[in-house]
Amino acid sequence: MKNCADAKRIVIKIGTSTLAHQTGRLNIQRMERLVKVIADLKNAGKEIVLVSSGAIGIGAGKLGLPEKPQDLSGKQACAAVGQCELMYIYDKYFAEYNHTVAQVLLTLDVLNRDYVINTFTRLLAMNVLPIVNENDTVAVDEIVVGDNDTLSAMVCELIHGDLLVILSDIDGVYDDDPHKNPDAALIHEIPEVNDQIEALAKGAGSKLGTGGMATKIHAAKLGIQAGFATVIMSGQQPEQLYELFAGKQVGTRIGS
Ligand code: GLU
Repeated sequence: MKNCADAKRIVIKIGTSTLAHQTGRLNIQRMERLVKVIADLKNAGKEIVLVSSGAIGIGAGKLGLPEKPQDLSGKQACAAVGQCELMYIYDKYFAEYNHTVAQVLLTLDVLNRDYVINTFTRLLAMNVLPIVNENDTVAVDEIVVGDNDTLSAMVCELIHGDLLVILSDIDGVYDDDPHKNPDAALIHEIPEVNDQIEALAKGAGSKLGTGGMATKIHAAKLGIQAGFATVIMSGQQPEQLYELFAGKQVGTRIGS
């Protein structure tokens, strides 16, 4: 599918940096704008699944911790607190636009199970908006996906999505590190992920999130294998999603 305007079933992944301030507390204005745009896209007939990060980061913020804990039980406790807060806000804001949300918490061992696929299919048929996260409170090494970029690609494959949109704190893939090189240019189209592209993606993520560009490129690679394209774009201006679905060039599109 060459034109994003033609995409009907879409997975939108929202990173922690889009949902939270540096403090880890919710970015209320951003979330309100994001919810409004997504509700509107659904009204226009798009089938959308959200994959939302933020449980651990927002849990840490709510608990007043200076940063995400590094130990497993600390992360799991933060996720338990933050996931509630996240869903509370999504439910409240989407309800304002008359949309029903559903929480779907997954671990690697249940992905690809028929009953998971059937649940997504049923929720979409009921016009409900599934909001997915990894079940961080119980996820341990053997069953963990580990980052939501990868999880969002897996979900997109599972539901036979047409397009994966990854909302990030950067507006796409650059040909050099834009924090270090002011002349770095945004790459609009990446037809395939080769070694050169993977080399561009090295580097860590933000203080609150998990992945950096490397996990996004990995997700896009899974997408190419599964037959859908991935758009990496900034989540700072959620209204840009309108432009994307009007067929304009936004962010970096990977795959064909
Ligand atoms: N599942 C994690 C959370 O909700 C986020 C993982 C990620 O940032 O990719 O905190």
